[in-house]
Amino acid sequence: MDIQFSDADLAFRDQVRDFFKEHFTDELAARLANPKTFKDAIIEWQKVLANKGWIAPNWPVEHGGTNWSTAQEYLYERERAVAGVPDVLPFGLKMVGQVILAFGNEEQKQKFLPRIYSSDDWWCQGYSEPGAGSDLAALKTRAVRDGDDYIVNGAKIWTTYAQYADWIFCLVRTDPEGKKQSGISFLLIDMSTPGITVNKIESIDNYHSLNEVVFDNVRVPVANRIGEENKGWTYAKFLLAHERTAIAEVAKSGRFLSELKAIANTEISGGKSLMEDTMIQQRFANIEIELMALEYTELRVLSGFAEGKGPGPESSLLKLKGTEIQQAIQQLRMDLAGYYSGVLQGELSSSELGHEFGDRARREYMYGRAATIYGGSNEVQKNITAKVVLGL
Ligand SMILES: Cc1cc2nc3c(=O)[nH]c(=O)nc-3n(C[C@H](O)[C@H](O)[C@H](O)COP(=O)(O)OP(=O)(O)OC[C@H]3O[C@@H](n4cnc5c(N)ncnc54)[C@H](O)[C@@H]3O)c2cc1C
Repeated sequence: MDIQFSDADLAFRDQVRDFFKEHFTDELAARLANPKTFKDAIIEWQKVLANKGWIAPNWPVEHGGTNWSTAQEYLYERERAVAGVPDVLPFGLKMVGQVILAFGNEEQKQKFLPRIYSSDDWWCQGYSEPGAGSDLAALKTRAVRDGDDYIVNGAKIWTTYAQYADWIFCLVRTDPEGKKQSGISFLLIDMSTPGITVNKIESIDNYHSLNEVVFDNVRVPVANRIGEENKGWTYAKFLLAHERTAIAEVAKSGRFLSELKAIANTEISGGKSLMEDTMIQQRFANIEIELMALEYTELRVLSGFAEGKGPGPESSLLKLKGTEIQQAIQQLRMDLAGYYSGVLQGELSSSELGHEFGDRARREYMYGRAATIYGGSNEVQKNITAKVVLGL
């Protein structure tokens, strides 16, 4: 791995910085933070990125990729985190888009990739089922061939943003016999097809991002199957490695840690700043050391991308440590906010008490519980690491 910043890299960094300053306005940030305006705002922002040509850096150049070096990709992510710019929605650009690029046929590439790139289609991920989360290969949603179509029956659960989605990519069982991994296929399903119902699931943070998606005799053209029938497990695993790399959010954790330092330096307790407490200093130091180590793992993965390698088992390590660090930061934010983080929603908010970061501390802590579950739980990542990395 060789990562050095040339003058051209630093000029690129300034270009990214200026672009975010000009286009990512406070007004847009406010609309993104509001659940009522989130959908339109994120599409608007992704279109700005697409027009600039920066929406899908890792795609091949002929499909709109940037061909950035590892250094450029690293600098882009740094600047994005510092400016508080959200990551793009992963389901189209970082998940199914990568699968279509790697395993889709020419017709599928022509049909789906441009609309993913322009954010004209909103995608969601139909992997998990009530009885198939960690043991994903146990999935039961059934697809039975009927001429040029499959008839799909079953249910997916925890489907993020299915309520907005135009399309869902699904793992379905096309062969119930034999080894469970070998009877799965990968289908692209239009959410407006008759027989699909989306049921809302409200999460602990009172936010609606999760859903159950039920399929009742849903007709899906065979032309919407990626690759071969019963080979879906191979494509599914490829996608999961991309998902885990995206979850690590190293640069964002770095920004949050800087924000917390500023708070710890200014908040006074017992006549001293919180930062003067040696226990607090130690917690900052521990998180910072872990984050630095993770940053190097991320760079290894990024330089692997630059050499044309896909993410390997390191993506499990990135997911595991990345989410542990995110939760350590969320816990620290709660502790720094103290009583103010305990004010309940629907009652007086901490902002009304002149302490707005208490609300944020609680909200991020609540949603943050999910990070060690989604994308494959951390216990399962430990199993993968033990087997594939350590050979146990
Ligand atoms: C906020 C959020 C968003 C999500 N979004 C999506 C989405 O958009 N699309 C989608 O398809 N899925 C999504 N998921 C689902 C997610 O991938 C699953 O929740 C996850 O894979 C765990 O599955 P499960 O919930 O069925 O838990 P289970 O598999 O039932 O696991 C329960 C517990 O047992 C542990 N466990 C299970 N097996 C083992 C083992 N072999 N060894 C050690 N421990 C084990 C787990 O770590 C966990 O602690 C989302 C989940 C959350 C929380």
